[in-house]
Amino acid sequence: MKLLKERILRDGKCLEGGILKVDNFINHQMDPLLMKAMADEFVKRFAGDKIDKIMTIEASGIAPAIMVGYLFNLPVIFAKKRVPSTMEDCFKTKVISFTKGREYDICVSREYLNKGDRILFIDDFLANGNAAKGIIDIIEQAEAELVGMGFLIEKSFQQGHDYLSSRGVRVESLARIASLSDCKIEFVL
Ligand code: 5GP
Repeated sequence: MKLLKERILRDGKCLEGGILKVDNFINHQMDPLLMKAMADEFVKRFAGDKIDKIMTIEASGIAPAIMVGYLFNLPVIFAKKRVPSTMEDCFKTKVISFTKGREYDICVSREYLNKGDRILFIDDFLANGNAAKGIIDIIEQAEAELVGMGFLIEKSFQQGHDYLSSRGVRVESLARIASLSDCKIEFVL
């Protein structure tokens, strides 16, 4: 998506270890017009699919997911990164955090994810695909169905895309980064 790629080149910053910082428009300060344009693009790409619910993981997936949910007029569920004491009955799994380098639990209440629900997962980044793996596990536990996964930014030099494709998951990424070596942002052509 041209608009997003231009914004990444303008305002994105490379950090050590292949991390792209997009705090200027996605992860801290948010640009609602860009968010809407990105959600429009997901709606275009998934327009022909039957979807019942949008899913994401807190916190940074919530903004794009709610835009997509709004445009599709569908509910949005976010997986929680801590199991709240008030939530007894939930689907739970462990996820390795790419940015924090540790494992954490995610959970989704059984009240909001039902057998047969057709799910579109939306998140900000696809790196090694650990968050996506956790979501697939939860969807399988619920006997729901995964329609596809949409990411704002995919770091194609990491394993996530290939892993998901090998599992037959449909992946739609709006900007695909081929390399962040020497702090130079290069996109997949
Ligand atoms: P994965 O689970 O695919 O390994 O990593 C995806 C998650 O890690 C995303 O939800 C995102 O929060 C975070 N992440 C991974 N790589 C980056 C990055 O380069 N920049 C930022 N800001 N977040 C990242």
